Amino acid sequence: MKKHILSQTVERLEEEFLAWGEQRWRAGQLLDWIYRKHVSSFAACTNLSKTLRQKLEGHFSFYIPPLLHQSDPGDETQKFLWKLEDGSLVESVLLEAPSESESTQEGRGSAGRKTLCLSTQVGCAYGCKFCASGRSGFVRNLTAAEMVEQFLGVERWNRARGYDLPERWISNIVVMGMGEPLANYEELLCALSILNAPWGGGVGARKITISTSGLVPEILRLAAEPEQYRLAISLHGASDEVRSRIMPINRKYPLAALLKACGEYQRAKGRMISFEYILIERLNDTPEQCHGLAAIARRFHAHVNLISYNRVEGCDFSRPPAEVIQRFYRELLSLGVSTTLRQEKGGDLDAACGQLRLRKMQDLAEGPFPS
Ligand code: SF4
Repeated sequence: MKKHILSQTVERLEEEFLAWGEQRWRAGQLLDWIYRKHVSSFAACTNLSKTLRQKLEGHFSFYIPPLLHQSDPGDETQKFLWKLEDGSLVESVLLEAPSESESTQEGRGSAGRKTLCLSTQVGCAYGCKFCASGRSGFVRNLTAAEMVEQFLGVERWNRARGYDLPERWISNIVVMGMGEPLANYEELLCALSILNAPWGGGVGARKITISTSGLVPEILRLAAEPEQYRLAISLHGASDEVRSRIMPINRKYPLAALLKACGEYQRAKGRMISFEYILIERLNDTPEQCHGLAAIARRFHAHVNLISYNRVEGCDFSRPPAEVIQRFYRELLSLGVSTTLRQEKGGDLDAACGQLRLRKMQDLAEGPFPS
């Protein structure tokens, strides 16, 4: 089976080119076509010789997954659903925080943060009770190329709309989509090294955040890596009792072990931890949980991202009333915790991780899938 071109680093390509009797610097030309000019075939790399393009065709795959679904153009949250080569479905989300000058479509350009949320697995084995990805079970790990292609696919899609975008448009990456990123460690790190490289995606390591439900050995492994990626912990409970009710991983790695690993990570990297906390009615929205969360956050000088629960079909959980959410948020602030309350669209069934895929799979079960 051919290797995918999007899993190749400049060093590997240079070696390959030299072995073919080609100039080393041709590798840079090829990567320029892929990551700056956003082409989707070797044939489009017109300053490479026809012979070299044929060699590339013979050695590497340049498979581009078709886009099955995209939310309305112009939405600040763009949701993409891709159909992979084996028929698996995977989703990515682009969150835009436009600057004032970008408030119109014509102004869509370089200013403002463009954050891409990447998926790392098809489904997920970790079974968090509130999560659509966990409900559909684990299918397989994504390859590094399939992660890199989510980034390029979103760039290409926006360029195809005719927006006048700079060479580097997506500014931030959060690895928080479908799957537990650290359970696909090798492929994830390969993909991020490509997206971080100046010849690749060009996204700075400090603008890349890896989220985990709490895989302690992999957090420690990541702490020993040279890259300065940010770490986000999906906490969702400030005590073992609450956390274990919704996150089975907590039975294997309870809070004490998780927080110890967070301390190691922070010592190795500096202040780069944040905590994600989905507020679920009458489960983790109590004053006791709020104070427990504040104590954990203060211990690490960490930022807390509060997210109000988004309903998942088939789950019994509910979003707390608005006044409870506000009280929890204000209490955290008053306890000296840097906190953001993420405003989700109320009742949007497709908005959270894994839900778009789950929806489409249900559609698929009921009728033919569009291809
Ligand atoms: S929250 Fe993350 S780790 Fe938990 S089931 Fe969902 S995708 Fe997996």
